Amino acid sequence: MISIENISKWYGDFRVLTDCTTRVEKGEVVVVCGPSGSGKSTLIKCVNGLEPVQEGKITVDGDEVTAKRADLTALRSRIGMVFQHFELYPHMSVLENLCLAQEKVLSRPRAEAVARSEKLLARVGMADHAKKYPSQLSGGQQQRIAIARSLAMDPIAMLFDEPTSALDPEMIKEVLDVMVELAQEGMTMMVVTHEMGFARKVADRVIFMDEGAIIEDRPTTEFFDNPKSERAKDFLSKIL
Ligand code: ATP
Ligand code: MG
Repeated sequence: MISIENISKWYGDFRVLTDCTTRVEKGEVVVVCGPSGSGKSTLIKCVNGLEPVQEGKITVDGDEVTAKRADLTALRSRIGMVFQHFELYPHMSVLENLCLAQEKVLSRPRAEAVARSEKLLARVGMADHAKKYPSQLSGGQQQRIAIARSLAMDPIAMLFDEPTSALDPEMIKEVLDVMVELAQEGMTMMVVTHEMGFARKVADRVIFMDEGAIIEDRPTTEFFDNPKSERAKDFLSKIL
């Protein structure tokens, strides 16, 4: 589904990604972890073309993201992305936040967009909040709306960048629960997170990055039970 082949990226003279190669198969959940500044956000931004790469090739469902003439708008409408900060449109109600891209990008008729939105709001436990504005919601609620908004586009894969790290502890679980359900339903997911409980529960593989390189890329239990590199061992000893 997602294929990352030998990608390298520089910001000016600074090499932010070094020869990264990995794959995410359809229905697979891959967690990406590693120290701050190791390139996790950059790597997943490259997957939906938010950041260009100087070397290597990325394809999503057979379409090359890194091609010079890639249709990034079409591509991004097929890959959901949820960030640390929820980035809902503040001047629009929850329902309008969910309907906007369905109508504008997918040309879905209003009634269909509304029906789809209501269904997704129910699924993330937010059915009673459709008329509210983002500022009237807690962080955890806003993040669940952001996930529902991505799902409204019927994405073929979902990318998450530390979706719970800006949340108060009591709200983390409500967002992780939605993500666990999504994973168990077979969504293809690439998730940057330090929530190792989530990783153990649903990830098929864990990628560990350091200084822009993929240091480990292994089945979840192998990674936790027997990390190979000193850097991963050190990282795990600090966060577990
Ligand atoms: P964190 O855990 O703190 O979110 P990360 O692993 O997501 O870190 P990135 O945000 O991908 O790390 O950043 C990797 C490196 O690239 C960092 O050293 C960062 O300072 C640098 N970097 C990120 N964006 C830019 C940019 N636009 N211009 C220059 N350097 C950048
Ligand atoms: Mg980051």
